[in-house]
Amino acid sequence: MIYDNWIPASTVDVVAWCVYVLAAVLFVMGLHYMNSPKTARKGNFVSAAGMVIAVAMAFVKLFIDGNFSKTALVLLVAGIVVGAVAGVVSAKKVKMTDMPQLVSVFNTVGGGAAALVALNDILAGEGSPSLVVLITAGLGVMIGSVTFTGSLVAAGKLQGIKWVKKLRLPGKSVWNILFIVLTVAAFIMLCVQPEHRALWSILTTVFALCYGLVFVIPIGGADMPVVISVLNACTGTAVAMSGLAIDNVALIVAGALVGAAGVTLSVLMSKAMNRPLMSVLAGGFGGANAAGGDAEGPEGTMKETSADDLAVQLVYADKVIFVPGFGLAQAQAQRELADLGELLKEHGVEVEYAIHPVAGRMPGHMNVLLAEANVPYDELIDLDDINPQFPSANVSLVVGANDVTNPAARKPGTPVSGMPILDVDKSQNVVVMKRGRGKGYAGIENELYFEDNTQMLFGDAKASLQAVIAAVKELLA
Ligand code: NDP
Repeated sequence: MIYDNWIPASTVDVVAWCVYVLAAVLFVMGLHYMNSPKTARKGNFVSAAGMVIAVAMAFVKLFIDGNFSKTALVLLVAGIVVGAVAGVVSAKKVKMTDMPQLVSVFNTVGGGAAALVALNDILAGEGSPSLVVLITAGLGVMIGSVTFTGSLVAAGKLQGIKWVKKLRLPGKSVWNILFIVLTVAAFIMLCVQPEHRALWSILTTVFALCYGLVFVIPIGGADMPVVISVLNACTGTAVAMSGLAIDNVALIVAGALVGAAGVTLSVLMSKAMNRPLMSVLAGGFGGANAAGGDAEGPEGTMKETSADDLAVQLVYADKVIFVPGFGLAQAQAQRELADLGELLKEHGVEVEYAIHPVAGRMPGHMNVLLAEANVPYDELIDLDDINPQFPSANVSLVVGANDVTNPAARKPGTPVSGMPILDVDKSQNVVVMKRGRGKGYAGIENELYFEDNTQMLFGDAKASLQAVIAAVKELLA
């Protein structure tokens, strides 16, 4: 254990420690670069370099220690090749809008791998493991297993798989508490009765896998972003625990960094979404269709408008607020939106972009998207600062945003209840660009679309924006 040999004896150990520390420095630098979209790409490269160095060192150390059989070597190489090919192919092929699902699948794999490593550490070997190993590996098994099933369900929901979205769990709080109690009890028994570690570690795994399912199945609507960042934090923590159990410094550092970043993000997201973190964890939030249902919404007629009419409204406005959402990402229309903004600004119109913390499908989704289109950062205005400005906006142009503008959030009993929204309905005029009558992620109708001051411009956001740009150019010619 690293606790016994804090100063490593052999040269290989010293070299390995130095390489792991270098890898850790690269992870921290990578995270730092990710603070800004401008340096985020560099941050990814630096962190990936740290990971390559750490994996290579772990491999070399195993080889020098001679701690494995030929079969293990073949399995290790096969695992590295299969994992690397799957990672490269999926990262290259996946669409930007499907990235959140991919991250959830990576969390599933990460949590599952951490749980297996920890389980092996408990079960392998002749004598009983020490209490420290039982605690760290037990926590690794517990958290990794919750992450495995929880992230799998989250990935299914994000992918929009119908039967996953339709899963319901009557009495969700009872199931949540039952499996938390069973998992913790089995974990305590594992520490108390190491002689029966096979039984208790397997029960801990099974109960934790069940908790992962009952934790995420009832979640939808406004709780999902918080849950995704909690699962991310869990992956890191499980990896760190497994690293402690098997004495791997690189795993401990990488896991701790992911865990700490995930916890920070979870706290920020739950504050931004007005969701007490503990309520989300206990399954206490969410309305009747919290998993994303097909609830009936407000009735009435929607008024349609055309690209030409919208162009007139925009050109004669003093102030326009753009409200981007998931549909903008889906349509990949960020450049068109930025171009329209530039055109209007050149004409003397004040243009701002309203950024909701969970617009899109991942934290910071709109910031990344608009940064890609070179929209100046000072035009991206956060929820708290933009909301007081809506009444002074002549036109608010909603581009593929739905849930984050839904006034239903101000009423109790809906999947978005309590979620802070962009007060678009308080603008003088609202125009919504979307393809049809599709619902948002929470699966409910948006009252905004039926308001007197709202008009709809139906069609793919990219095509609609191109038509509006052409119409604005014609007006200004
Ligand atoms: P929503 O998912 O609520 O709505 C997106 C809207 O875009 C749909 O109503 C859809 O309507 C429209 N749309 C889709 N494709 C196009 C297109 N090509 N052109 C024009 N419109 C299109 O998005 P929001 O950003 O408003 O809200 C995000 C939701 O996702 C919240 O409920 C949030 O809780 C959840 N979530 C967020 C995460 C995060 O971290 N950001 C993570 C997980 C969930 P139509 O089909 O009619 O075109």
